[in-house]
Amino acid sequence: MEKKEECALVRELLPIYCDDAVGDEGKAVIEKHLKECKECSTYKEEISQMKEEEEASQDKIEAVKTEQATEVSKKLRRHKKKMDFISTVAVVFVWLAFMICFQVVEVSGISMKPSFQDGERLLMNRVVYHLRSPKQGDVVSVALEDMTLLKRVVGVPGDTIEIKDNAVFINGKSVKIKGEEGQIEPGDLTYPLTLGKDEYFVLGDNVEVSLDSRSSSVGVIERDEIRTKFLCRFFSFKK
Ligand SMILES: [Zn+2]
Repeated sequence: MEKKEECALVRELLPIYCDDAVGDEGKAVIEKHLKECKECSTYKEEISQMKEEEEASQDKIEAVKTEQATEVSKKLRRHKKKMDFISTVAVVFVWLAFMICFQVVEVSGISMKPSFQDGERLLMNRVVYHLRSPKQGDVVSVALEDMTLLKRVVGVPGDTIEIKDNAVFINGKSVKIKGEEGQIEPGDLTYPLTLGKDEYFVLGDNVEVSLDSRSSSVGVIERDEIRTKFLCRFFSFKK
């Protein structure tokens, strides 16, 4: 083989030689030629240098990529921490707002049947009576000295109440009592009874058994004894 041809062949093989991808036999031939040929040896040095530079810049790119990835994951971690904090604050806030605005009570006894059953859980509104007065028909919790009752408002301030002939009369008009059919006893109050300022008359829907304003042990209710208003039934497993 002429030197020129050999040079051409070696130069063609040099890139793979530099990647160490030439068999032993080829390697030996190339190395022998490089020793003898200065041009090809210089050419080989150039290729090696180019490859080194390429590798270095590749490493640099990798380093930048890693750095970027670290930065992104740092940012994500910070964001997650922030979101965790915000959601915790939100949960606490919602819980506090719930505690301030509502109360969950369990119905005890049958005095509000059929509207409410014994053991049923109700969501009561704590704030409404800070904004307005109780109205006729409202189901309210009444906090007495030694007990809390769930009753329905029948008479409001200024109303005149009378219970006779198995009926309740408000200002001379008979009102239908929501609830069980039954005997409406007048209890031990004196009628007609006119409610003063801030006075309310409450009855249980189950008029035959309910202990309410008709009994002097409960009597007429003061406005500040009416605490909460029935809002809705609270989630319950019981039927
Ligand atoms: Zn050569």
